Amino acid sequence: MIRRCPQHGFFRGEICECGQTGQIVLEESKTDQLGRLVAGALRHFPRDLGLTMDSRGWVDLVALEKTIHNRHRWANQELVRALIQSDPKARYEISGTNVRARYGHSVEVDLDHPENQLPKLYYGASEEEADRILEVGLKSASQRYVHLSMTPEKAWHVATFRTGNPRVIEVNAVVAQASGVKMMKVNEDIVISDPIPHKCLSIVLSKDIKKDLI
Ligand SMILES: [Zn+2]
Repeated sequence: MIRRCPQHGFFRGEICECGQTGQIVLEESKTDQLGRLVAGALRHFPRDLGLTMDSRGWVDLVALEKTIHNRHRWANQELVRALIQSDPKARYEISGTNVRARYGHSVEVDLDHPENQLPKLYYGASEEEADRILEVGLKSASQRYVHLSMTPEKAWHVATFRTGNPRVIEVNAVVAQASGVKMMKVNEDIVISDPIPHKCLSIVLSKDIKKDLI
């Protein structure tokens, strides 16, 4: 659900961080529907929708709004902007007349976020996946970039949505970046990376993951 706070603009959920409930702008099921279409347009199939995406992932905002309005007549310009601006994970950004997804692309893009500065990054996987990754390196079958976490705990937690007993792989970002692997900081939780060679990877021992921190 998207609501509008008179002071802070669009937000998701029941209450703005200031404590006001504001007014409902879009109910839950339509928020989901609109969210899936915007994600598809900006991450997965812009061309199928007739949209032009540049190499940095930017799409013309008015063109996006028109395309969405053609599919869902109820989805006007204000609702598309409300959805983008209220995204709880800051998936999208607007710059001038353009909009893009900050991460999560399956289409080919060459993003230009700030370079990663952290020496170590982490990736959670199932036991089988982890064995394979340590042998052949880390890349995503479906996504343009590998998504890495900043702590072993975060990586473990993310992987619990996919597997019962995750293993966590540590990435030596210093060595990887020195050998030409591009890594970029997307937000306070995520670093995206080009494929990482196996020589930069090692396993984190389970006892070293402080699961009670999560
Ligand atoms: Zn507020």
